[in-house]
Amino acid sequence: MGTVVQIKVSIDPAKYGEARAKDAINRAFDEIKRIEDVYSLYKDSSEISRINRLKKNERLQISDGVFNLIHKTLDYSERTGGAFDITVKPLVEVWNAARKADKMPEEREIKRVLGRVGYKNVVLDGIVRAIHFKKDGMGIDLGAAAKGYATDRAVSILEENGIDSALVNSGGDMYCLGKRTAHELWKVGVQHPRDKNRLFLEIRLKDRAIDTSGDYERYFFLEGKRYSHIIDPRTGYPIGDEVVSASVIAADSTTSDILATAMCVLGEKGLDIIKNYGGIDAVLVTEERGHLKVRMSEGIRKRYDISEEKL
Ligand code: AMP
Ligand code: MG
Repeated sequence: MGTVVQIKVSIDPAKYGEARAKDAINRAFDEIKRIEDVYSLYKDSSEISRINRLKKNERLQISDGVFNLIHKTLDYSERTGGAFDITVKPLVEVWNAARKADKMPEEREIKRVLGRVGYKNVVLDGIVRAIHFKKDGMGIDLGAAAKGYATDRAVSILEENGIDSALVNSGGDMYCLGKRTAHELWKVGVQHPRDKNRLFLEIRLKDRAIDTSGDYERYFFLEGKRYSHIIDPRTGYPIGDEVVSASVIAADSTTSDILATAMCVLGEKGLDIIKNYGGIDAVLVTEERGHLKVRMSEGIRKRYDISEEKL
């Protein structure tokens, strides 16, 4: 998945031997490798690549894991008014090609490709667990959700193996299982958006996921200007530079991964949307006229122990 995954577990050696803990960690890593094989866009044999070769109305039966993840992403597309949309794949390809050629894509090229984008053109059949696209030339890219999903799966494997305290970190996509010690929660930091050697937030969590998406994480240059790797599926263009970063806290990592990406597209409006969800919080950093501004979801300070540095 192009990232480093770190798993920490905390055990009482009197009750749970170190060898057993290592075994549990190895099983969790095996599951992450399995997920990488299933979700990879770069392996021709992956389930996602098979889906992406489908022609209009051609059906393919898919595994429960892939079905459920796609189902969840479609649900969040609906809830975010299409700001989150895994069918951005053809647009991601246009912008990748533009980056390689160092040439802005033509507006009419974007318009043409937009015709093949849209979560409403993905059809899932829950009875036979099949997928089909309503149009030719469509494709899905789970890059904005798969790391979180891998984190969740790793956590499940640890739990199945008797671990009740762990921290799984898939390239910043973190899940805190249980407490770090009997008296302390896990403490996670959010990197300063403009200085990677500093933290701007520290937050204590238990049985919660946190993920951050932002412009400082992954971007590319085109004709000398910097662009985000997150695309607004409604316009076909990379998101503007208003949102610097969005961190989302949720009950599972798949959700925090999806919503951190969605919040980058939605900006402040995203804070209004997550208000209605319950159990989801966010910290949004925006840049306005050269100044960084932090906004947090309502009640987040009551729910969590947060310490922050001024930006
Ligand atoms: P993340 O790093 O989790 O924010 O995910 C970003 C990746 O998701 C990009 O590299 C694209 O592959 C894909 N992507 C870009 N824009 C969107 C979007 N609006 N909705 C869903 N996936 C996207
Ligand atoms: Mg994401």
